[in-house]
Amino acid sequence: MTNYKFKNKLKKNLKIGKLVCLARTYKKHAQEMNSDVTKEPILFLKPTSSVIFNGQSIIIPKMSNCLHHEVELGVVIGKSGKNISKNNALDFVFGYLLALDITARDIQKEAKKKGLPWTIAKGFDTFAPISEVVLKKDVPNPQNLDISLRLNGKIKQNSNTNNMIFSIEEIIEYISKIMTLETGDLIMTGTPEGVAEIVSGDILEAKLGELCSLIVDVKL
Ligand code: MG
Repeated sequence: MTNYKFKNKLKKNLKIGKLVCLARTYKKHAQEMNSDVTKEPILFLKPTSSVIFNGQSIIIPKMSNCLHHEVELGVVIGKSGKNISKNNALDFVFGYLLALDITARDIQKEAKKKGLPWTIAKGFDTFAPISEVVLKKDVPNPQNLDISLRLNGKIKQNSNTNNMIFSIEEIIEYISKIMTLETGDLIMTGTPEGVAEIVSGDILEAKLGELCSLIVDVKL
């Protein structure tokens, strides 16, 4: 099992649990995908085996010819809970990080057409690069963070978490109605607009305000 990494060389042992991901949480991203905004969040899971860290490489799988980057705010759960109310949802948060929801867009397109799950499109090894965790106490307002991604130095995604359709509290309330959120679980809260293709040799640099950054490259 893999542990999270922490900023400031903090020594903590927190195992990475399940990765619960949201789709269409930014209106402009839903629009660029020609998708409708839904009343309730759309959920899918990524396997823990897809996690990589700062400085590592996204590996393009043979099964895909089109990978996309999606930069997202990650919420790390610090306390197990079921049927959590949005009123105290932040009590269950341990910290925040930057996550990339790497997507095999060609496989996902086919899956959407056929009404099949997104497991393959989202689940390859290396498809979830994550930054170090920033502790909750160091993030006074997680719903007002600039979030951006540069591809080879050029800005591609540039938004703020205040554009999310669902708040972090609402997301935790909704997910925990369905599945127990356990210590170490990571919620990937969805991506803003500007997703684009990545190819071998590319360098991706994501930033979450001044809190943390994440740099990975892409290899065949
Ligand atoms: Mg995503």
